[in-house]
Amino acid sequence: MRPSVVEEFVHVYSPGSHEIRSFFAPGRVNLIGEHIDYNGGLVMPAALTQGITATCRPRSDRLVRLRSREDTLSIEIDLDRPITPDPARGWGNYPAGVVSELLLRGINLNGADVLFTTTLPQGAGLSSSAAMEVLTAFSLLTLAGAPTSDLKAIALLGQKVENQFIGVNCGIMDQFAVALGKKDCALLLNCESQEYHYVPVALDSHVLVIMDTAWQRRLTDSKYNERRAQCDAVLRLLGEDAPRDGLVHASWDQVLFHVSDPTLRRRARHVISEQTRVEQASQVLASGNLAAFGRLLTASHTSLREDYEVTGPHLDTIVDAALHATGCLGARMTGAGFGGCAIALVEQEAVPDFTASVRSAYLRETRLEPAFYETHAADGAHETTEEE
Ligand code: ADP
Ligand code: MG
Repeated sequence: MRPSVVEEFVHVYSPGSHEIRSFFAPGRVNLIGEHIDYNGGLVMPAALTQGITATCRPRSDRLVRLRSREDTLSIEIDLDRPITPDPARGWGNYPAGVVSELLLRGINLNGADVLFTTTLPQGAGLSSSAAMEVLTAFSLLTLAGAPTSDLKAIALLGQKVENQFIGVNCGIMDQFAVALGKKDCALLLNCESQEYHYVPVALDSHVLVIMDTAWQRRLTDSKYNERRAQCDAVLRLLGEDAPRDGLVHASWDQVLFHVSDPTLRRRARHVISEQTRVEQASQVLASGNLAAFGRLLTASHTSLREDYEVTGPHLDTIVDAALHATGCLGARMTGAGFGGCAIALVEQEAVPDFTASVRSAYLRETRLEPAFYETHAADGAHETTEEE
C-alpha cells in the first residue's frame, strides 16, 4: 500500500518535533470566453478538484527545503542569501521566485521543509505553474503567521513571479482562478480591469470531463500573435467607431460596414459572439439550465474552429468524438488552442461509456492516447486537514 503523504514526508525529511501542516491549491480550466481576454472581454475560469498539495513543517534555521513527488531534484533556498532565477534549479524556480518576492515585500519568512504531491498534470494547460506559485505563497505566509485573506494580492504576486522570475508572459486569469476559486462557482473575470464576480456552476447530476489530447501545443505563440494583430487591424479599420474598451464592444453592423476582408470579418465575429456567449452562459448557469450551457460550449468551439481558426485537427477530433458520445451536453477546446485540453459537460452516470467511446474514436483517428479528468468547480487555495 502507498504510504500516506505525512509518512512519506517523515521518510524524506526524517522525524521532527514541529507540527506538520498541509495546504492545497487547485488547477483551473476556462469554461468559456476564449481569445477575448485581450479584446476587453470576459473569461469564466473555474478552479478544479485536481491540484497540488504542499505538506510543510517549520524548521528552526533559515533554510527552505523543497521536494516534489514528481521530480528527483531537491531544492534548498537560504533565506539570508539573494535569490535569482537559475536554470539548474528546474521546477524549484517557481517556489524560489515566490520566496524571493515575499522576502522583497518584507515578510519575515521561517525556514521550512516542504513536500509537493499532485493530482494535476504538468504542462497540459491546467495551470500547474500557477498552482505552484499560489500554493507556495499561501503555505509560507501561513507558516510565517502572516495574513492570507487577501487572495487577490496572492494571485498578483504569483503572476509577477511567472512574468518576471520565470519569464512567461501570462495574464492574470490563471492565478486568479487558483487563488480565488470557489466550490460550485466560476469566476466571471475581466482580465484588464481585474473586476470579477462569482457565477454559480451547479452541475447537478453532471460533471465536467477534461480531455487532454496529448498533443503538444505548437504554433501557439505565432498564431496567438497573429490573431492579436488581426484584432488590432479590425480596430484600426473601425476608425472612429472603434470602441475604447476593446473589440468585444463593437457591433457586428459596424464590422460589416468598415471591414471588407473576409478573414478579418470572421475574426471579429468570433470576438463579438464569444462575449455574447459568456454573458448568456452566466445567465443560463444562474438559472441552472445545463442543456443551454452545453449548447453554448459547443457553439464556442464552432466559432473558434470556423471563425478564429485556432482549434486544429486534434482538438476538433476529440470534441467531435465527445459530441457523438452518449450523455454529452456540449464540448469545446479550452486554452490557446492547437492542442492541450478540451472540456465536455457530461451526465455523471454516462462518464464511463463517454470516456471509453471518446478514447477509442480519438485513438483511431490520431493514434494518440488521450487522458481524462473528471472534475467539478472547486475551492481555491486553502489549508487542508485530510489528504486531497
Ligand atoms: P501548466 O501551467 O499548463 O501546467 P507550465 O509549463 O506553465 O504548464 O508549468 C509546468 C511546470 O510547473 C512544470 O514543468 C514544473 O516545473 C512545474 N510544476 C508543476 N507541478 C509541479 C509539481 N507537482 N512538482 C514539481 N514541479 C511542478
Ligand atoms: Mg502554466
